[in-house]
Amino acid sequence: MVGKHIAVWHFKHWQGGSSVSVIVMHGRKALIEEIAKERIEILFDIAEREFISNQKLAKSYISMMNKIRTHYRVGIPSRIKNRICSNCSSILIPGYNCKVTIASSKGHIIYKCSVCGSEKHLHYRK
Ligand SMILES: [Zn+2]
Repeated sequence: MVGKHIAVWHFKHWQGGSSVSVIVMHGRKALIEEIAKERIEILFDIAEREFISNQKLAKSYISMMNKIRTHYRVGIPSRIKNRICSNCSSILIPGYNCKVTIASSKGHIIYKCSVCGSEKHLHYRK
């Protein structure tokens, strides 16, 4: 299994532009995907922490996350996908920059981004 701090180590080196080759050397697709997913999780956690104090930095983490996603062709976990505005890449924080409405007749939770006004409709099950 890949430990959390191994992924952080890769991430730190990746910022310097050298860890992509380190990862490819492992040669196993499943492992690469696992590391990519873990990086996405780590980047999101950092971005979420930074978002209120430094949105620009947080958004750069989100764009890094998207690069990893497209480069390694991995999916973003739904807990993360549901929290990012698909239009302006803001992290949606209820009560801060997004309004949450429950449309129980449709079985939807609606997240309305107050930065760009776009809405995210999430299904929920009873
Ligand atoms: Zn938005």
